[in-house]
Amino acid sequence: MVGAGFGGVGTLVMLKRAGYENVTVFEKGERVGGVWNYNTYPGAACDVPSHLYEFSFAPNPRWSRRYAPQAEIQAYIEDVARREGVFDRVRTNTEVERATWDEERAKWTLQTSAGEHEADVLVTACGQLSVPSVPPLPGLDSFAGPAFHTAEWRHDVELQGKRVAVIGTGCSAIQTVPAIQPLVSHVDVYQRSPGWTLPKMDFAYPETAKKLFERFPALLRFDRAFTFAFLETVTAAMTSRRWLLPVFRAVARRQINRAIKDPELRRTVTPGDEFGCKRIMLTDDWYPTLTEPNVELVTDRIAEVTPTGIRTADGRERPADVLVLATGFKSHAFVAPMEIEGPGGHTLAEEWRDVARAYLGLSVPGFPNMFVLYGPNTNGGAVSIIHQLESGIGHVIAALRELDTRRADRIELTREASDAFNRELRDALAGTVWHSGCTSWYVDEDGNDPSQWPWQWTAYRRRTATLAPGAYRFSANERVPVAS
Ligand code: NAP
Repeated sequence: MVGAGFGGVGTLVMLKRAGYENVTVFEKGERVGGVWNYNTYPGAACDVPSHLYEFSFAPNPRWSRRYAPQAEIQAYIEDVARREGVFDRVRTNTEVERATWDEERAKWTLQTSAGEHEADVLVTACGQLSVPSVPPLPGLDSFAGPAFHTAEWRHDVELQGKRVAVIGTGCSAIQTVPAIQPLVSHVDVYQRSPGWTLPKMDFAYPETAKKLFERFPALLRFDRAFTFAFLETVTAAMTSRRWLLPVFRAVARRQINRAIKDPELRRTVTPGDEFGCKRIMLTDDWYPTLTEPNVELVTDRIAEVTPTGIRTADGRERPADVLVLATGFKSHAFVAPMEIEGPGGHTLAEEWRDVARAYLGLSVPGFPNMFVLYGPNTNGGAVSIIHQLESGIGHVIAALRELDTRRADRIELTREASDAFNRELRDALAGTVWHSGCTSWYVDEDGNDPSQWPWQWTAYRRRTATLAPGAYRFSANERVPVAS
């Protein structure tokens, strides 16, 4: 396995519980945790309620808040790995550079930074937001002060009393700007295009609530089910029931109007594109922060970064001591920079040259015994990625069981199943908000090929639970096809 975030740890635990113990996870970071290990910027927290943003098999009644902060989520992942006895299955500080399929032996050979490893089945769980995107801004390298990405936060850089420039107004920026604003002397926030928000309504759980969750786990399950049902409604609004969108847009507008009195600033932060096309951001403090006297929201295009600040297209240069790039991630790279080479030397990068697609986001034709967790089109505009991951892991377990039952050693998605799924996917995506035209990590640079799941998440759970008849081809070592 590659990657020890929620996907990798979840797979280890679920496979162990299903009786598959011979699993090794390679993790390039020095700890498990994935994005929660890397994204330590001030204010980093989850924007999915914690009782849904946790493993279904490891409910935590003691989250400190409705939306847990980063450090607590990181501690939770480590705690689950330890309690479930899978910690020693993770090889940290080990990057998988290449995986090559050996057709003769029906095995994957992994070239890692610590040597070679052989595997019958390859599961990747690299996350979609793990490779920081640094825009090619002219002069960026000339900046004299510290400049860093939110996912590579420099905790050694003192922000007290400094002038800070933050580029970007996505989920990371709207969390970190309110967190640093009270410390810094001034912060310029460079917005290219605004995104819709909704009130987060975050709060700390009082001790009595945590005790109640501990004593009555049904309460926790109810909260989880209720949150899931609500987020499924948001999913419907972005996909098959877009007539629901005006309701959410009205709430979003009200949030802006209540927090901001200045009509010009209101106009500047109100998006023109469809609600949900960019990721909806949950916040209670973004707009109030923008009204603080030491904050300026800059909307002029960035012309260049200078050694001492940022010059915008109108010719004005704003000085900065520190530059923060809240510019997101290379979300369409999926398993990159790892190279995967299937039978006949055909690489995954070649297969995905036009667009990355995978059956149920998990399986790619021509790449046997391989599953891509959180692969193409398994992202949602709402709900919890952990639900998606657990569904995908369930599919991997179903495949392993089928291999055992058939005494086969090779499972491969059929091209027909892949093509049929891709047609179905394209048709469904066409009617979603993600084809309404906006810049977002959900879509590629041309605004095409949304990497989103265009249906409900209950449908994903149902479809991944079993192997559809005929979707996969099985064979045994002697290359004799086993009936599919
Ligand atoms: P993002 O949503 O992709 O936002 C990147 C921001 O940088 C956008 O405002 C973008 O503007 C701007 N940008 C990019 N290139 C630029 C350029 N050349 N010049 C000016 N502005 C530029 O990235 P993110 O905020 O890191 O969030 C990514 C995702 O991570 C989120 O959507 C979310 O799923 C996840 N996340 C989750 C949490 C959580 O609470 N669970 C917290 C943080 C992040 P445009 O919009 O105009 O492209």
